[in-house]
Amino acid sequence: MAGAIELEAARRAVLARVVPLPVEMVELSAALGRRLAEDAVATAPVQGFDNSAMDGYAVRAGDTDGASSSPVGLALVGESRAGHPSERDLGPGEAIAISTGAMLPAGADAVVAVEDAARDGDRILARAQVSPGEYVRRAGEDFAAGATVLKAGAHLGAVELGVLAAIGADPAPCRRRPRVAVITTGDELTPADQPLPPGGIRDANAASVPALARLAGAEVFSVESVPDEEEATAVALEVALGSADAIVVSGGVSVGAHDHVKAALGRLGVEEEFWRVALKPGGPTWFGAHDETLLVFGLPGNPVSAVVTFLLLARPALVALAGGEPDERRTRARLGDDCEAPPGRAHAVRCRLELDERGWVAWPTPHQGSHVLTSLLYADCLALVPAGAAMVAGEIVEIELLDRASIGG
Ligand code: AMP
Ligand code: MG
Repeated sequence: MAGAIELEAARRAVLARVVPLPVEMVELSAALGRRLAEDAVATAPVQGFDNSAMDGYAVRAGDTDGASSSPVGLALVGESRAGHPSERDLGPGEAIAISTGAMLPAGADAVVAVEDAARDGDRILARAQVSPGEYVRRAGEDFAAGATVLKAGAHLGAVELGVLAAIGADPAPCRRRPRVAVITTGDELTPADQPLPPGGIRDANAASVPALARLAGAEVFSVESVPDEEEATAVALEVALGSADAIVVSGGVSVGAHDHVKAALGRLGVEEEFWRVALKPGGPTWFGAHDETLLVFGLPGNPVSAVVTFLLLARPALVALAGGEPDERRTRARLGDDCEAPPGRAHAVRCRLELDERGWVAWPTPHQGSHVLTSLLYADCLALVPAGAAMVAGEIVEIELLDRASIGG
């Protein structure tokens, strides 16, 4: 494709423009999907004390010698409940009732499970011999004081939030979410809830592109649709330029008489970095920057091309703006079938992933047209077949995962 930039070079050019966003403190209740801005280090061990793995009785293991054959009587002298440690230490020949997670009393080194003991007034009869450490969870088994529990850039999911809470890191330092505006262009576009006029098509990208941006960690502050007019396009862009970190435009970036996006961007001083990527689908993709750091993506309007180019070029940038690792969804698989790429253009082949005895296999989905959005419904990855390559089944191919994190679904 004449004048087109190679896909990986395009990705690098986009990432070279990224300046990670400022750090802010975010309460954990609002931090789902954020990226941690600094390593999270535990200042204390978790758990902070030796505790019981079972409901039962804290004992000295040696006191239970022989209990498996003939029960041993121990004096019940107290209780340690979760959140309410025993006020007294354990002496020889004694037992202290203990609940799961409660602090092991000083002097105890094991727990007899409640199932292995019978209560008899102020005594218990232990029917199992336990060894030192039995049913005891040691302090710091989850992590020790000083341990780095999460790295800067970590994507905060449910477990990460739990771990941050466990070390008392609330609020946590996160990078600001990228603020994104989405503009779809085209006279033919009809909102999804309106009747279709003759020649109209429903605005699929107004639903899919903002969702992709949110999944990449962005806050989408506006979604607008404009007709194929330079003036209307420039007005929408100008408003977005006022408060966005990134703008994603769909459609109108080709060379047709009704494509006005490039002219409007030029008028507003958005500097072109590249136009046309050697990629199928997604050739006419445009990228530029405004005031050095505001990123503008002009994605092709075809619904599949818009999703594919977003995932391969815009998503890594949004992830990096938020402080994450842009290549986190790159990996490899074996091709299930032969796959070709045209000369001079890499081919992003939508594939399902299946596991066989040798690992993951990428099977192309049946319809690969750039207008066939349903071909993405059951795809698990994009297999990236290099320009001009005729790859055969069984060859290892680079893939971009289309998982819950990147496309939701
Ligand atoms: P364009 O990139 O503007 O030349 O559009 C290429 C093709 O994608 C045309 O068939 C458009 O009708 C279609 N298209 C453009 N924008 C959208 C959109 N937002 N939703 C669905 N299809 C679109
Ligand atoms: Mg158009």
